Amino acid sequence: MKSRSKQEAKPVNRRQILAFQRRLEKLRDNLSGKIRRPELIAERQTELADQAAATEGRNLATSLVENNHKRLQYIKVALQAMRNRTYGICSGCKKPIPVTRLNAVPWALCCVSCQENQSEQETFGEDIAAFA
Ligand SMILES: [Zn+2]
Repeated sequence: MKSRSKQEAKPVNRRQILAFQRRLEKLRDNLSGKIRRPELIAERQTELADQAAATEGRNLATSLVENNHKRLQYIKVALQAMRNRTYGICSGCKKPIPVTRLNAVPWALCCVSCQENQSEQETFGEDIAAFA
């Protein structure tokens, strides 16, 4: 079993992509539900806080919703990349993204070194523009 060079990560195969797709779709559905019910998150926060901290709880809930919303956008872009058959290929250097990274961040669209070269915000904006 030494048919391939170890210099580059192997691209994810079709079966792995399907497994990631199922994970992403589950996450997407989960997040969509949370985004539709921000008041539930706020209520849970205020259960733990007194009345004076209630406003803070609501702010926290709002930022949670914003984070979830952002993550949901990443997930949608990753699912779109699967349909375009570009999933698992770095959007920066065009090399395969190591499957260990995809396991940790299934919506990753670029490798760690390309990610470090760009701010997250920029990557996000570009991706959305590319698939809009
Ligand atoms: Zn890269």
